[in-house]
Amino acid sequence: MNIIILGAPGAGKGTQSEFLIQTFALEHLSTGDMLRAEIAAGSDLGKQAKSIMDAGDLVSDEIVIGMIRNRLTDKGMLFDGFPRTLAQAEALDALLQENNMQVDHVLLLEVENNEIIERMLARGRTDDNEEAIRNRLKVYDKQTSPLVDYYRKQDKLLRVCGVGDVQEISRQIRKLIEG
Ligand code: AMP
Repeated sequence: MNIIILGAPGAGKGTQSEFLIQTFALEHLSTGDMLRAEIAAGSDLGKQAKSIMDAGDLVSDEIVIGMIRNRLTDKGMLFDGFPRTLAQAEALDALLQENNMQVDHVLLLEVENNEIIERMLARGRTDDNEEAIRNRLKVYDKQTSPLVDYYRKQDKLLRVCGVGDVQEISRQIRKLIEG
């Protein structure tokens, strides 16, 4: 089973991803974590990505698609923070298809913008200053939110309210996935 967790930055994707990988024994593929690991390692890719990430913009499709391609496994996977553009979504469908796999469910964690800004300011990452946050929300609306329609049309979208008790949200996610 392959799952995508979708939602604005700060919607709680990281937290619910932990729950999902444990509950359904999934391989966690987070492009944000992979990019932060590149930065920590001081690689050329990391150096290129850092200023883009600090500004809240998107790293190029080629780079993130390449990272995902290298990490595909035939275990169930949880895609966290990927895809973020239609081009990435189409590339993922193609990559999975080549390997006789598919996306099974797309969980959309829904949280309003005001709540998101408050949460992110409390989190304190280097890309969590207010200007970068506003830009990331703008980028999400423009580039990533079209994916909601993309997966709705494929009949894969599961909507979850991302506000409230974390464990209650997890319970709802589990119910939706187990159908
Ligand atoms: P995240 O940890 O998922 O919030 O990602 C942090 C930052 O990494 C984002 O603001 C982007 O700059 C970059 N990033 C992560 N995943 C992607 C992706 N799929 N496409 C482009 N940029 C990404």
